[in-house]
Amino acid sequence: MDLHLHDTMTRRKRRFEPADPNRITMYVCGPTVYNYAHIGNARPFVVFDVLFRLLRRAYGDDAVRYARNITDIDDRIIAKAQEAREPFTAITERYAAVFREDMAALNVLTPSFEPHATGAIDAMLDLIDLLVANGAAYRAASGVYFSVAADADYGRLSGRAQEDLRAGARVEGEDDKRDPSDFALWKTAKPGEPFWNSPYGQGRPGWHLECSAMIKSALGETIDIHAGGHDLIFPHHENEIAQSETANGAPLARYWLHNGFLTMASEKMSKSLGNIVTVHDLLAAGHRGETLRFALLSAHYRAPLDWTDQLLEQAKASLDRLYGALQRATAAERAEPPAAFLEALSDDLNTPRAVAELFTLATQINASDTAEEKARLAGALRAAGDLIGLLQAEPDAWFKGGADDAEIDALVAQRVAARKAKDFAEADRLRAALDARGVIVMDGPEGSAWRRA
Ligand code: AMP
Ligand code: ZN
Repeated sequence: MDLHLHDTMTRRKRRFEPADPNRITMYVCGPTVYNYAHIGNARPFVVFDVLFRLLRRAYGDDAVRYARNITDIDDRIIAKAQEAREPFTAITERYAAVFREDMAALNVLTPSFEPHATGAIDAMLDLIDLLVANGAAYRAASGVYFSVAADADYGRLSGRAQEDLRAGARVEGEDDKRDPSDFALWKTAKPGEPFWNSPYGQGRPGWHLECSAMIKSALGETIDIHAGGHDLIFPHHENEIAQSETANGAPLARYWLHNGFLTMASEKMSKSLGNIVTVHDLLAAGHRGETLRFALLSAHYRAPLDWTDQLLEQAKASLDRLYGALQRATAAERAEPPAAFLEALSDDLNTPRAVAELFTLATQINASDTAEEKARLAGALRAAGDLIGLLQAEPDAWFKGGADDAEIDALVAQRVAARKAKDFAEADRLRAALDARGVIVMDGPEGSAWRRA
């Protein structure tokens, strides 16, 4: 089945044809680890995880090389470390660990490569050398800069006019740039800031250069797919293109993908606006990772998605319905996902349409007369779920699943013991306590099972 992806560079959907079907390369700009990730930050990692899964299915697990970096040196990290009076590495290690936990909870697969910016400083300096050698970069007291004038096509990804690119490009402390839209490749360290020694003085890399260098070392000069949030188109990806292509003399990426914003009350969720909900807090409040993932996939990745309590409730109810259908079928072998489901995903990752196909399967399971038919359909539902990272739990565990599982297990066991001892008053008291928690107890010959109402 042909995969079509919307390419930001050409502004249209294009059939995906890898340069080499035995080696598909994909890069997603990863998190800057200085704080808890908000649910908007998680959106690109979840939607492009679906793409990763789809590519693995189409070309084979080993053929797909997916790199998602960790930005572990950056102005915001330094500011946070100074404020907390801690080494910057203490901050980045802490939040990189939180990020890994968040991703695991959201059923996001580990990428093939997770390069850290601080592990690729040599590759960054090599790129600067190339750019200085071909006259595209120059040294100033505050750092080394890329000269935007060296790239005749600068601005082609965002489609901005040169005047727009120049407007607002002033950055504090960069007064010695030749042109306001020139951007830093290397920033001279100020007193007290972390630094690396280099031929360009003690300093640290610019953010855009980090990705260009990590892409080149992990995947090569030209990759198939480069992706990230919509806010990265300009200046981040524009600058990655300018420096990589000027240094390497080869296109950086063959397809550019960008996800739309997660919003709250129609405003972009962002740390600077302060309207954020962190993945960490959502999980701590008892929402399951799969519910968050379902909510994120309920809209098309390029469309905006408004984060509301209602969205979460719907996601939970939808998963309950799908797990309910699975529970009514006997455990099934994985089967082929339905063609309509695959078609939806192949059409620029249309997850809302794909999810609708999951409901169709659930309805068919519930309506089918034979156990064989139910099991066959459940196998298809399972396989479809795998492809978008949903329905990864066992139905019984899903309906139990909660922070107080162990307590409920204990109450149920006490009630079984009370009944055995014919202490019916105690058994009734325990049943009432379980009712109050919304737990349904199912008594059977083998003991008692339970699920949440
Ligand atoms: P950061 O950790 O700030 O570098 O951001 C990580 C990723 O989250 C980037 O790909 C951003 O484009 C993306 N992102 C940030 N805010 C949002 C949002 N509100 N909705 C969707 N994606 C976002
Ligand atoms: Zn990047």
